[in-house]
Amino acid sequence: MLRALEAAREAAEDGEIPVGAVVLDASGEIIGTGRNERERTADPTGHAEIVAMRRAAAALGGWRLSGCTLVVTLEPCTMCAGASVQARLDRVVYGAVDPKAGAVGSLWDVVRDRRLNHRPEVIAEVMAEECAAPLIEFFARRRVG
Ligand SMILES: [Zn+2]
Repeated sequence: MLRALEAAREAAEDGEIPVGAVVLDASGEIIGTGRNERERTADPTGHAEIVAMRRAAAALGGWRLSGCTLVVTLEPCTMCAGASVQARLDRVVYGAVDPKAGAVGSLWDVVRDRRLNHRPEVIAEVMAEECAAPLIEFFARRRVG
């Protein structure tokens, strides 16, 4: 989570919403890091989780991220929650809760829908306050400036 937070801070420095993510392999090694880069890449799918999953899949040489864990500073949206199911991730760990758009327990619970045959384990609110802090700061600054 510390590495994900570092990526979130890097995003904020570039004027992106500060969200960071990493993918760990079964041994706990980081195989993909991502941060929100929607503005820089003009890509609506440029969320931290998607970027991290793409890099992890490239590192492994395949789209299946079985055995892997996604760690992200903010509760994933519907797109990213869906992608984590598609990637067959074992686990999703997130920091801050997103009551406005969260799809891993808040507005929806995409990854634990019993109708799906793959459901990643969820560990929520890990370092939640630390993960929320850069977001609160970012939006406070945006309102002022
Ligand atoms: Zn997302």
